[in-house]
Amino acid sequence: MDWMVTADRTGRRVAGDGDSDVEWPSSVAHALAAASEVTACGRAVDGWRPLDHLVFPVVGAMTCPVCLRHVAVARAELAQSGTGPYIFAAAC
Ligand SMILES: [Zn+2]
Repeated sequence: MDWMVTADRTGRRVAGDGDSDVEWPSSVAHALAAASEVTACGRAVDGWRPLDHLVFPVVGAMTCPVCLRHVAVARAELAQSGTGPYIFAAAC
C-alpha cells in the first residue's frame, strides 16, 4: 500500500518539465491511502480532491506532520515485514 496526496484546496502548478501543469495542493497536504475516506492523521476527506498523481509527501508543499510521521512508520514496517514496497521518501 502506498499513499497519495489530498488537500482541501488545490490549484495548478507547472511541472518540472515546464510544459505541463498538474493539480497541486494549495493548502496543507495530507496522506490518503487508496480507497480510504480518512487521511493518515484521521481527517475525513469529504469534498477533498485525491491527487493520485502525487506520492505523499511532495517536496515543496506544506505537509501535515502527523501524516508524515504515520506514513514513515508504516513504510518502515512494510519494509521490515519483507512485503515492500521499500519506498523511503526523503525528509522534508
Ligand atoms: Zn494529515
